[in-house]
Amino acid sequence: MLRASLREVSAALREGRVGATELCQRCLARVRATGFLNAYISVAEDAALRQAREAERRHRAGQPLGILDGIPVAVKDNFNTAGIETTCASNMLKGYISPYNATVVQKLLDQGAVLLGKTNLDEFAMGSGSTDGVFGPVRNPWSYSRQYKEKNPSKSPSENEDSEWVITGGSSGGSAAAVSSFTCFAALGSDTGGSTRNPAAHCGVVGLKPTYGLISRHGLIPLVNSMDVPGILTRCVDDAAVVLGLLAGHDPKDSTTIQDTFKPFELSNSIDVRKLCIGIPKEYNVPGLSSEIQALWLKAAELFKDAGAKVIEVSLPHTPYSIVCYHVLCTAEVASNMARFDGLEYGHRADMKHSTESMYAATRREGFNDVVRGRILSGNYFLLKENYENYFVKAQKVRRLIANDFVKVFASGVDILLTPTTLSDAAPYVEFIKEDNRTRSAQDDILTQAANMAGLPAISVPAALSKRGLPLGLQLVGRSFQEKQLLTVAKWFEKQVKFPVIQLEDMKSHDCSGFPHQKSVSSL
Ligand code: GLN
Repeated sequence: MLRASLREVSAALREGRVGATELCQRCLARVRATGFLNAYISVAEDAALRQAREAERRHRAGQPLGILDGIPVAVKDNFNTAGIETTCASNMLKGYISPYNATVVQKLLDQGAVLLGKTNLDEFAMGSGSTDGVFGPVRNPWSYSRQYKEKNPSKSPSENEDSEWVITGGSSGGSAAAVSSFTCFAALGSDTGGSTRNPAAHCGVVGLKPTYGLISRHGLIPLVNSMDVPGILTRCVDDAAVVLGLLAGHDPKDSTTIQDTFKPFELSNSIDVRKLCIGIPKEYNVPGLSSEIQALWLKAAELFKDAGAKVIEVSLPHTPYSIVCYHVLCTAEVASNMARFDGLEYGHRADMKHSTESMYAATRREGFNDVVRGRILSGNYFLLKENYENYFVKAQKVRRLIANDFVKVFASGVDILLTPTTLSDAAPYVEFIKEDNRTRSAQDDILTQAANMAGLPAISVPAALSKRGLPLGLQLVGRSFQEKQLLTVAKWFEKQVKFPVIQLEDMKSHDCSGFPHQKSVSSL
């Protein structure tokens, strides 16, 4: 049952083949058994079981709330949840309990979803590995798969565990690992520069970054307000469409959300691929793109061509500037967003009494890791009166040029862009942490962050296994608010590639009792 899709398990609940309480118990047992992945920061056992019992009562009475009623889900630990700690994997927010639920969390609960817990991430969602949070790195479930072991017989994690496991990607690595290791049926991530699509690609799951403004950000602790969107991680495209349908739409608490009412859609099984024009942006053939991803990308383009689609090379000429542009805009917004964490308003306060200034300084030194502090420093530099025009304003102009590249390509008749999601398969942890976080993030985001700067919807679909037996994802980017078309094409593509199911039998041998910090919380 745990391997079923969200829609399948929902049908099983409706038909009485499984009860919501039993399902929740099984998922919680799975969370415990996979504790060594470090995917969850908090597990809300009691609250989840209570929600499951209520769902079961509704199911028995023949009054389920809808497709999500009784379905176990997980939420990244940068969404506020009333009653469960929201830490952003930072010392700054350890122990912080929000008085309210983020709009998306409330919507999940209103639909009867069972919230198992909060998932691990890079501190304040800054990173692309899920290796930089205070609760430690997230391990990629595929490191423990039969597929990986078959391809790397000498790298059996049980013999040499610490050097051989691979990262999940990030920053929503906890959510991706939670879905990929069958602890839940869907999870929320966030996506500012690729943080949902990147870990989805590395963990072999679907990761959807919706159009900016389609889903409320209220209660998502901001990284870059002008780019952040809640992301959706599921095991198949159909499930992503279901969750999107339940979360999308106007929220009076987020003035950047669309005003129109959003109509949920079902994805059709058949599409006329011959009517599609697929664009292959030549600038995405970047240095560092692994040859196997390159080959996979070509193969996918052939697949569309063979099915009758028009496949053309297109140009997004400002792509090479996107990393630098993102860096300026991201750090500038980070500098102003992080100002609220000063020891007075929210979170941690250092025990430093001689002056307010020294208290601020000590609080921020103790509360933030060096990645966050580094971004605050850069951002404040770019915002200095004498630098503002040269950096911040210029970066905004470049952002407009990047967005206009997409407008032109879509106006020329292209329906969907096809690109890789990541440069290569997931790196072993020991390799990944050799480089500093800023360089890594900059490299890793090159294929994903332009969609954030342009506000466009994009989805990563698992497409193949690498030579090392690890997942590779491809990305489809669509027109603004055209999620229905994007997901329909993604579903067609998913059907063609037949990505293998992760074989996790060996996980039993790693039955350690979880990371020391992982706590159960009882209230919600
Ligand atoms: N890796 C990018 C960064 O560090 C993106 C993060 C994200 O999407 N949350 O900023």
